[in-house]
Amino acid sequence: MAGFRTHVGVAATLGVGYGFVMHKGMGCHWESGVLSATLTAVGGMLPDLDSDTGRPIREIFSLAAAVIPIVLMPRLTEMGLSSEGVLASLVLGYLFVRYGLSWLLNQLSVHRGMFHSVPAMLISGLVVYLGYHTDNQHLRVELAGGVMLGFLSHLVLDEIYSVDFNGVRLIVKKSSGSALKFFSPSLPATTVCYTILGALLYMAYTEWHSNAPAPAAQPVPFKMAYRT
Ligand SMILES: [Zn+2]
Repeated sequence: MAGFRTHVGVAATLGVGYGFVMHKGMGCHWESGVLSATLTAVGGMLPDLDSDTGRPIREIFSLAAAVIPIVLMPRLTEMGLSSEGVLASLVLGYLFVRYGLSWLLNQLSVHRGMFHSVPAMLISGLVVYLGYHTDNQHLRVELAGGVMLGFLSHLVLDEIYSVDFNGVRLIVKKSSGSALKFFSPSLPATTVCYTILGALLYMAYTEWHSNAPAPAAQPVPFKMAYRT
C-alpha cells in the first residue's frame, strides 16, 4: 500500500489542480478553489482513518478534527449561534473528532475494510455536501467533488501499490485486499456502509430539492398575451 507521504503528496497536487480548474475553468471564486483544494488533500487521507494508531493516523485525525468543524461553520451560524457559541462548537467539534471519533473508529474498523471502498468515497462526498450549508448548490457540489477526488486518488494508489510490477507479470500482493471495491468480506460492515450511504443519499436528495431554485415562469403564449 502506498505510504502516507505519497497519499498526501498526490492528493494535495490533485487538489491544487482541481481548485485551479474550478476557479479558472468553472468561474468559481478563488476562496472556494482554495477550500476545495484543501478538501481534496484531506480526502486523500480519509480512507486511512481505519489504520491502527501511529503518527500518520494521528496527523490525519488532527487535520480532520480541524477541517470538519470549519466545514460545519455556515450551518452553525445559520442555527443562530452567537460568535462565542460558534467558537465553542469549533473547539468541542475538534475534541470530539480528535479523541472521541478516533477512539470509536479504532474499535469498529478493520484496516482496508469498507473504509477503502467506492461507497465510502460517495459517503465522504455526501457528508461534505450535507455538512456545508449554503444556498450555493454549485459550491456544495464543488466541495463534495473535491473530497471524493482525493478519496478516489487514495483508493487508486492503494490499488496500484498492491500490485508488484515484476518484469512483465503483475503479482497482486496477498497481504492487501482490493481498495477499489464495492463490498467487503464482512457482511455487517458492508450492510452498515450501504445503510449509511442510503440514508445520506435520501437526505441529500431532499435537501437538493428543497434548495432548488423555483422553476422559471413559463413564457406566455403569443396569442394569449395579445388577446383582447
Ligand atoms: Zn489506504
